[in-house]
Amino acid sequence: MLHEHGRHRSHDFRCVGCRLDVPSVAPGTAHRNHCPTCLVSLHVDRRVPGDRDTSCRGRMDALSISVRPDGEWMIVHQCAACGELSANRIAGDDNALALVRLALRPLRDPHVASKALVTL
Ligand SMILES: [Zn+2]
Ligand SMILES: [Zn+2]
Repeated sequence: MLHEHGRHRSHDFRCVGCRLDVPSVAPGTAHRNHCPTCLVSLHVDRRVPGDRDTSCRGRMDALSISVRPDGEWMIVHQCAACGELSANRIAGDDNALALVRLALRPLRDPHVASKALVTL
């Protein structure tokens, strides 16, 4: 039954940034919610990554890289539709060049990253 496979891919998503079909399973994270190529995400989670508890569905662009107190790197996303901030774990197959570009990008508002981490 070939249909079987398709049904189980329901959690995959089409990237709104580069149109890549992104599998939800990723090394290093249980809930991939951003594109490994361009790091664009969708606003689907309200408080906890994976809760899928918001109906916003706005496009979330990667804003900056932030490092948690335990040393884990997080991507800070901001929703283009509602302005919500969220911090997400980096996946093992995220585009390293895109991550480095993001890390080197000067942060316009230094409070943004810490505010995003507080919401975790
Ligand atoms: Zn993408
Ligand atoms: Zn939103």
